[in-house]
Amino acid sequence: MSGLGSVKRIIVVLSGKGGVGKSTVASQLALSLYANGNRVGLLDVDLCGPSIPKMFGVDRNSPSNTVYETEEGMTPVNVFSTSNETSRFKLMSMALLLDNANDAIIWRGPRKMAMIQRLLTGVKWGELDYLIIDTPPGTSDEHITVMSVLKQQERAKDFLRALLVTTPQMLSINDVRREITFCQKTAFHIVGLIENMSGYVCPHCSECTNIFAQGGGNLLAEQYSIPFLGRLPIDHQLNTILDQGVQQVEKGFEMIIETEAMKLFENI
Ligand code: ADP
Repeated sequence: MSGLGSVKRIIVVLSGKGGVGKSTVASQLALSLYANGNRVGLLDVDLCGPSIPKMFGVDRNSPSNTVYETEEGMTPVNVFSTSNETSRFKLMSMALLLDNANDAIIWRGPRKMAMIQRLLTGVKWGELDYLIIDTPPGTSDEHITVMSVLKQQERAKDFLRALLVTTPQMLSINDVRREITFCQKTAFHIVGLIENMSGYVCPHCSECTNIFAQGGGNLLAEQYSIPFLGRLPIDHQLNTILDQGVQQVEKGFEMIIETEAMKLFENI
């Protein structure tokens, strides 16, 4: 079935600013749910900076990553398994659809909105326990399109769920306040807040140094009565895994590298 009809729950990942680790958190959340036995889809609707395929080592030029347009919708890429039937982790991104990933950068409003609508309703996901949606930073027309498409779905209450990502600096924290207001106004239920890049773990002695201020995410969560899921330090190992991507996506292997980040989502 194409679209969201066989998807049980959706979590949209939001951040006030770019570069705070939103795609990183989206990928780790999806992997954590997958490691717990769920069937997971990861959808990247960040049209101008789609980084999810790279994080998973999914190269659109490889034949196994070709997206096919069928009568039932677009086929997502199967990750960790080559077969559509056995794959429990599927991925779709704008970056897999364009000949040149930079094409979308010059798109204007209506074209962007049409593409987001197509990505949300035209993918043949099959049965999924969770669909994780990585969005662009901020609260722009793209987010309003995502929200209105999800709101039109029959089970909107299971779909309008948001996870917020911030860094500890006040500038990022202030932007997250706007995300919270957006969620309140659009009836998104906030499942939690993550403070990313919260300190630096030395790869030699494992000691964590707080480079920036710390604890702002926790205070913000308390102030707005939203669950604080935890702090994720700058982690050299995580960065290497995300940059190399391929380590997580050896086709045919049901094996993923467990990271500290994945533990934050165990009770989501
Ligand atoms: P965003 O989606 O908010 O623009 P990304 O998730 O793409 O940000 O992260 C930006 C860069 O920072 C990426 O190279 C990513 O690997 C790195 N990064 C994000 N969070 C961490 C972290 N906790 N530890 C190490 N590197 C991180």
